[in-house]
Amino acid sequence: MSSQARKPPLVAIVGGGCAGTLVASNLLRRFDGRLRVVMIERSGRFGPGVAYATEDPRHLLNVPAERMSAFRDAPSHFAEWAAERLGGIGGASYLPRGVYGEYLRDVLDDSRAHALPQRTLELVAGEVLGASRTRTGIALRLADAAPIACDRVVLATGAPGVAAMAQLPRDPRVVYDPWAPGALSSGGSKGLTLVLGTGLSGVDAALSLSSGRGWVLAISRGGQLPYVHLPACARPRRRRRCRAAGSHWRRSSAGSQSTSASCRAPATIGATRSTACAP
Ligand SMILES: Cc1cc2nc3c(=O)[nH]c(=O)nc-3n(C[C@H](O)[C@H](O)[C@H](O)COP(=O)(O)OP(=O)(O)OC[C@H]3O[C@@H](n4cnc5c(N)ncnc54)[C@H](O)[C@@H]3O)c2cc1C
Repeated sequence: MSSQARKPPLVAIVGGGCAGTLVASNLLRRFDGRLRVVMIERSGRFGPGVAYATEDPRHLLNVPAERMSAFRDAPSHFAEWAAERLGGIGGASYLPRGVYGEYLRDVLDDSRAHALPQRTLELVAGEVLGASRTRTGIALRLADAAPIACDRVVLATGAPGVAAMAQLPRDPRVVYDPWAPGALSSGGSKGLTLVLGTGLSGVDAALSLSSGRGWVLAISRGGQLPYVHLPACARPRRRRRCRAAGSHWRRSSAGSQSTSASCRAPATIGATRSTACAP
């Protein structure tokens, strides 16, 4: 069989969240040669994944817009995309995560629409149950569809969910996954809602719940709230000045950029071993 008649290699991406979307889009843009990409996502919702599907505008990115581009060779891609749609957005802005979810959807659609003819992307709504080697490559087993034979597999299935805690009852009032669609949509009850954990997800949950009429009590072992970013520290070159101000640095990943530094200073709200906020 001539190389012309041979089918292009097939890369299967399991998981259509942020990581899967960035891999697919970058393969379509950068891969040198013919290529078929199949992305399989069990929710049927391609792009935002868990972190960027939230519709609560108070749930913000923890990385400034200028460091969230999907493309390494276009670092301001996201900031420009957001400025065009929302207006008045600077690269140092911390935008709602839902906006980033829209961006990921847009990046995927755009990469698919503008891919060269010999590079294609197919989106499959389904759950992958397993993979096995075959004589010619890899076969993916799906829950409700025929197996997919491919040459390479990218596992972009995200982090495992929170395991149920033996001490807590299996009860609709106990929310194990605050990011499941609609999990916090009741806005909190009239009584007291306990949030276990005072990190970034704990704060997001408390923000969503505090729009209700009850109380929210957030509690954690260390009683620490997340640190806040210093606006003056948006750029790594200012690191020395921030250190002098008594803050510290951490490394975080953002889009296709492998690592980036962000400067944080202690939150101005006091944090004790338990933190309560009124509605
Ligand atoms: C609440 C929250 C906020 C965050 N905020 C930020 C931020 O501001 N900035 C930042 O840089 N990072 C942030 N992160 C980190 C974030 O997780 C990563 O940036 C990124 O979104 C991870 O994407 P992912 O594709 O690996 O995982 P996910 O978004 O979890 O996507 C995995 C996908 O795989 C699918 N899947 C899983 N198993 C299967 C299967 N067997 N078959 C088919 N599909 C499957 C799932 O349905 C899911 O859609 C945040 C994380 C969380 C949880």
